Amino acid sequence: MHEDTQVRATAMVAALSQVVRQTCQVVLGEAVTSLSPQTGGVMVTTQRAVYHAARVVIANGAYAKPLLQAVGITYDVFPVKGQACLLAPVSPRTLKHTVYHDHGYLVPKRDGTILVGATANLDAGFQTTITVNETATLLSKAQQLLPALADAVVLDVWAGLRPGNAVGHPLIGATDATSRVIVATGHYRNGLLLAPITASIVTTIATEQPLPARWSFLSPTLLAVTS
Ligand SMILES: Cc1cc2nc3c(=O)[nH]c(=O)nc-3n(C[C@H](O)[C@H](O)[C@H](O)COP(=O)(O)OP(=O)(O)OC[C@H]3O[C@@H](n4cnc5c(N)ncnc54)[C@H](O)[C@@H]3O)c2cc1C
Repeated sequence: MHEDTQVRATAMVAALSQVVRQTCQVVLGEAVTSLSPQTGGVMVTTQRAVYHAARVVIANGAYAKPLLQAVGITYDVFPVKGQACLLAPVSPRTLKHTVYHDHGYLVPKRDGTILVGATANLDAGFQTTITVNETATLLSKAQQLLPALADAVVLDVWAGLRPGNAVGHPLIGATDATSRVIVATGHYRNGLLLAPITASIVTTIATEQPLPARWSFLSPTLLAVTS
């Protein structure tokens, strides 16, 4: 896959966060516990406070189900744990392009390190612990794809939760005609890849512009009609 391009997920999220802070007040460390659409807006209750918003975007990944249910959406979003690791090969430039085979991949980074991805564990629930089993799977996959990695140094191992879905696509759109509550979740393995188009769809809806018909299959209202 020599034409593949890539980003560093942590750098991308840090950059987006910086841009958001230029125009928005960011409140961290407060889980939203309930949403209540009302005339002219939405009441948002967190662990610490109650906020009144003109619009709300439900975008809390694998944790979205209770908030979706609170606004009458039955889309099934669930956690799929993924573990990945970062290796420093003994000889730099061991690999020039992304290599993918049988759910495993090696991604060479500009600094010479190689990212090894990724497990998919449906049984872990919301756990993000690093396990021997998943680490062994990753390291043996790395060696299978590129035997020269046998002597590489393991720099980092991490785990996260993908927002899995039962319908085969994410849910992006307004929950009713007033567009007070917008949903963007269920991106499973592709949340970074789909971030620009997701942002574009959400912005189009939030600014009350007409949404191109090709995106309507992602809409929560269509889901409610077809399920
Ligand atoms: C190992 C691994 C490798 C991956 N590789 C890729 C890849 O190569 N390319 C790609 O496109 N995608 C990849 N993904 C998938 C990608 O990470 C997800 O699709 C993406 O993170 C989903 O984004 P999100 O914003 O919907 O959810 P998240 O990134 O999970 O963000 C949800 C946020 O909501 C917060 N939250 C949860 N509940 C509440 C609440 N009640 N109130 C307030 N906040 C709350 C959480 O703390 C979190 O910060 C990978 C995932 C893993 C685990």
